[in-house]
Parts: sequence; structure tokens; C-alpha cells
Amino acid sequence: MEGNAGDQARAPRAVVVGGGISGLVAALELRRAGLDVTVLEASQRWGGCIGDHEVAGLTLDSGAESFATRTDAVRTLVDEIGLADEIVPPDPSGAWVLLPEGPRQLPKTGVLGIPANPWDAEVRAALGFWGSARASLDRWLPARKPRGEASVAELVRARMGRRVLERLVAPVVGGVHSADPAVLDADMVAPGLRRLMAERGSLAAAVAAQRGAVEGRKAGSAVAGIRGGLHRIITALVGRLEAEGVRLVAGHRAERLDRATGTDGDPLWRVGAVMHSEDAENQAVVALLGPEDTYDADVVVVALGGPAAVELLSDAVPALAGHEPVPGPEVKLVTLVLDCPALDARPRGTGILVAPQVGGVEAKALTHATAKWAWLAEEAGPGTHVVRLSYGRAGDPVPGVAGVRSGPETDNELFAAAMRDASSLLGVALSPEDVLGWDVVRWQGALPFATVGHRARVATIRSLVGVQPGLAVVGGWAAGNGLAAVVPDARAQAIALAGRLEGALPT
Ligand SMILES: Cc1cc2nc3c(=O)[nH]c(=O)nc-3n(C[C@H](O)[C@H](O)[C@H](O)COP(=O)(O)OP(=O)(O)OC[C@H]3O[C@@H](n4cnc5c(N)ncnc54)[C@H](O)[C@@H]3O)c2cc1C
Repeated sequence: MEGNAGDQARAPRAVVVGGGISGLVAALELRRAGLDVTVLEASQRWGGCIGDHEVAGLTLDSGAESFATRTDAVRTLVDEIGLADEIVPPDPSGAWVLLPEGPRQLPKTGVLGIPANPWDAEVRAALGFWGSARASLDRWLPARKPRGEASVAELVRARMGRRVLERLVAPVVGGVHSADPAVLDADMVAPGLRRLMAERGSLAAAVAAQRGAVEGRKAGSAVAGIRGGLHRIITALVGRLEAEGVRLVAGHRAERLDRATGTDGDPLWRVGAVMHSEDAENQAVVALLGPEDTYDADVVVVALGGPAAVELLSDAVPALAGHEPVPGPEVKLVTLVLDCPALDARPRGTGILVAPQVGGVEAKALTHATAKWAWLAEEAGPGTHVVRLSYGRAGDPVPGVAGVRSGPETDNELFAAAMRDASSLLGVALSPEDVLGWDVVRWQGALPFATVGHRARVATIRSLVGVQPGLAVVGGWAAGNGLAAVVPDARAQAIALAGRLEGALPT
């Protein structure tokens, strides 16, 4: 395989390192700006945390499965790649939360579990009278402009009290971010909420304003999916990039990034990549097949996880030493395809989140995918159900739970735990004969770990990288977890990078 060193390209050259959604979106934008673009992806598969797998004959999302509709960012992209008609809302039945005293419906009008109205019937059922009374104090507390950083737990506890934190926010945050709200940066995981709180006078009003903005435009649903699965976004995006002439190089892992001099004497970036393959267990192994390929570029976009991005950039930007972001937790997803007509009744709506203080259940969340997505129920047929359970939380033992165990690890342990947990969470006794197929997918460090102060760390990293000509970093760790944050950020960074080249671009 040959690199592009020595090519006499007329248009400025861009190399994007990482073929997840952030890298692919950045590539699309750079190409649109007229650059000659190459994308390097270490694995054989495009999409990073958005992928698919086949279980019992059904093609399912193996990672991300929906996108937040709080802005139009993802919808605009989906529109551009020809999938606008495939956007689907989830079933309106909503999700549940398992509290120590049993399952309750999760209030539908919250942001990150924070309620818009503490006296809603569903909120009262989850919090009890005194919990709702404490939460409504939020209306009377002064709401100042945010100063400094705050964890999600600090924000929620101060405004609405411990019960909102433990019963609503911790399960949602655990389900989405695999982390304790005490360590997560409120501004990273709920962007704009603290600012809105200062404007609207209370946290509940800020939540209502954020949800209202969504509901005004999107008929009530905070998330949407794609008929056939979110992974179709990647297939369409890759197709578009190929059609636009972007060079997509899979199985090439970037190992080095250096400043070099081109044949014309001009400075450029040189990316060194090695061929990369995966063994049977999908453990990444680097196979040095032949010499390192080099890719020369005027601009480089690094679209990797935070620790890997900083490592790759460390030679080119030595000032980054000591600024490595914290790696995220390993998330393990167990998908079960079940022959179980009792689940046609959607006993827990679209799924159930588990409050950390609940004992006896090891999963942190269960998604009832055939209840959530009508297209999937149709594909699976009556009586066949897809449920997905997630395991693995970041951080320390959960407060209030004595002797937290390390949790199931091997595929067989995870399968056994998923069967136990699914039976108890769905309230339906499941036996191995009900299982039509199952799979375990592991996401190592894929969720960015947005600890308090993360936003400031990202700003520092971006400013250190930004002083180098033609370098940018994109991705969930920098933009915030989730497509709604990653997509517009990757676009903006790529546009800014191309903008700085203006004059060098062919007219
Ligand atoms: C299990 C799971 C479920 C999720 N569910 C949702 C959801 O429902 N909705 C939502 O909005 N978000 C969800 N997210 C988050 C969302 O998927 C991510 O925020 C987003 O996909 C991150 O994209 P990215 O491009 O930043 O990174 P990634 O997707 O991690 O892409 C990075 C890519 O870089 C490649 N790479 C790594 N090292 C190198 C190297 N040295 N050289 C070349 N390539 C390299 C990797 O193989 C990978 O393909 C979920 C995440 C996970 C893990």
C-alpha cells in the first residue's frame, strides 16, 4: 500500500486520522472546501462507535442507536446524505427507572433525568411528596450566572435535592455516560443548561425551556433513530465521501505525526501509519506488514479518542505533555434476541435504567429495542424481541451499596448476567430455550470521560493544537458525548481549518 508522499497534488491535502463519525464529517466538510482528502482508519470498519452486528438473522446497531434532537445538527447531516425520509421517532411509551422500591415510569419531560416540573405525577411517583417538595425549592433559590465548574451532582443536589439526584439523575447519567454524576462536568453533559438556568431563574425552568425548544419543533421526542439502524448513517456517509473522491484507507493505524519539509521546500505534516489487523477476539494487534506508509498533508484533523489523540499529537505539539484526558470506562453490551410473546406488551416501555443504589441487578440499563423502534419490531415479527443490556460503570464503588462486585467479565458470565437481569428488569421469567441468539460487544474507553474540569482541559488542548498551522482535533471527547455534539463540532472545526487555508485553495 502506498502513501501519498511526493504526490504533486494541486489542491491542499488533508489527512483525517480516525474514521468514526467525527472524522467522516470533518472529511466531508474539508472535501466540500476543495481539499484533497484522505481518511485513515485503524480498523477494517468505518463508523467507530456507530456499527452493526447480526444476531439471530437481524442486523442491529452494535453501538449508538439514536441521536438527540435538541438541535438540527444531526438531522441536517442525515438530510444531506439522503436519509431524511428514514428518520423515525422512538415509541412514545418512554422508559422506566428501577428504584430500590421497584420500577417507576421515568418522567418524559426531563433533561438528563432532571425534571421540568417536580409536581408531575411521574416525578412525584419517583420522588415521593417530600422529594417533590424539596425539588420545588429550586424555584425560590437565587439562580446566578454560572461561575467556575460544577459536577452534575453538585448542580442537582443544590437546586433540587438528593432524591432527584439519586432517583432520576444518577440512573440516566449512569445509563448514558456510564459514570457517577459526582464526577461529570455539568457543562459537558448538559450543554447550555446552567446558562439557561441563570436566564430563566431556576433549573426546572431551564429544563422546560430546553425541552420546550425541542418539543416545539420535534413533536415531543428528545431522540430519533434511523429506520434500519443508525449504522446506515455511516454507510451513506462513506458512500458520499467515495463519490466525492475522498480516499478512504481502512486498516491503517496512524502511529506518528511530524512536521516535515515537502519536495518543494514547503513545510507540511507527515503522518506515519502501519497496517493494522485484528485477531479473532477483535483485540487490536498491530501487524507491521512492510514499511510504514507516510501521508503528507497541509492540514491534519485528529479524530480519535482523547488519550489516543493527545498521544499521536505529542511529538508535533510537545506542550501537550501532561494534558492527556482521562480514558473512559469499558462498556459491555449484551444483546439478546428472544422468542418471548409476553414482551409484546412492552412491560417496561422502551427500556429501564437502574438506579445505582439498587442491589441484585448488575446491568445499568436495558433497552427493549423492539419496543423502542417500530421498524425493528416489524422486522423481528410478533413474539420475537431484541433487548440490549449494558454493563460497566466508571469510577469508584457506588455510594450506598455495600461491597460492589467487579461485575461479569467473560462473554459467558455476561450472557448469564443478562439473562438474570433481563428476567428481573422486565418482570418476565426467561430461560435459555427462549434465546434465538445473543452477542457481546465491548467498547473500550469509547465513552469520553467528561470529568469536572474536562471542558477547561479540552480548551487548553485545543488552544495548544490550534497555534500549530493546519492542525485540529475533533471527536466526542472534545465536543461532548453523542452525535448531537460531535457532528456540529467536527463540521465547525473542519470549516475553520479550511478557512485558514483560504488563498491556497484552487479557484
Ligand atoms: C456503546 C455506545 C453507545 C452509544 N450510544 C449513543 C447514542 O445512542 N446516541 C448518541 O448520540 N451517541 C451515542 N454514543 C456516543 C457516540 O457514539 C460517540 O459520541 C461518537 O460516535 C464518537 O465518534 P468519534 O468519531 O468521536 O469517535 P469514535 O467513534 O471512537 O471513532 C474513532 C475512530 O478512530 C479509529 N482509530 C483509533 N485509533 C486510530 C489510529 N491511531 N489511527 C487511525 N484510526 C484510529 C477507531 O478505530 C475509530 O473508528 C454511544 C457510544 C457508545 C460507546
